[in-house]
Amino acid sequence: VLPTHLQELITLLSRLPGVGERTAQRYALFLATGRDDLCASLGESMGRVAHNVGSCTRCGNIADRPEDNTTRALCSICQDTKRDPSLLCIVHRVQDLLSVERSHAVRGYYFVLGRLLSPLEGIGADQLPVEELKQRIRLNDSEVQEVLIATPPSVDGEATALLLSQQLKPLGVSVSRIASGVPHGGDLEYADPVTIGRAIAGRRDIE
Ligand SMILES: [Zn+2]
Repeated sequence: VLPTHLQELITLLSRLPGVGERTAQRYALFLATGRDDLCASLGESMGRVAHNVGSCTRCGNIADRPEDNTTRALCSICQDTKRDPSLLCIVHRVQDLLSVERSHAVRGYYFVLGRLLSPLEGIGADQLPVEELKQRIRLNDSEVQEVLIATPPSVDGEATALLLSQQLKPLGVSVSRIASGVPHGGDLEYADPVTIGRAIAGRRDIE
């Protein structure tokens, strides 16, 4: 009953996280009825993001993709030389990095894992970027002295923290874990900056 192009838009929108079929339909109808400008701007903006935004080659954060293909993409945090190179904070996703940044509790640099260990989802140790992380720590003549693991306090997050501490300690860095405070099973993304700040201030060394 719906025009083909509109149905196509609904199908695409429903692939977004947290957007079900019905919400997708509502968005699509909103855009299709007298909002030509918004519709066109959204299309152009998405195209620009697809072409110009990528991942930081050092930490995995979101970054501008360089114009020429020879320069490596570096995010604004990795480009910031005023940060403390002795502290490296490990997070699950870019959203978590942004939450930790909002808390202003970390003045060091970051490393985004992209995924957590998850026996249930069949994600094993070999699928985590452990080697990349080790390389990152060895970068700049090992200025990194402390690795703070800020994976979420879930079963997968804890298992990941344990694995990483076993892998990283032999490199001669101290490994710490954020304190509880962020609700168990909770996502850093939805925790408020004060809670995250407390969890980071109260971090403990992993023995
Ligand atoms: Zn970066």
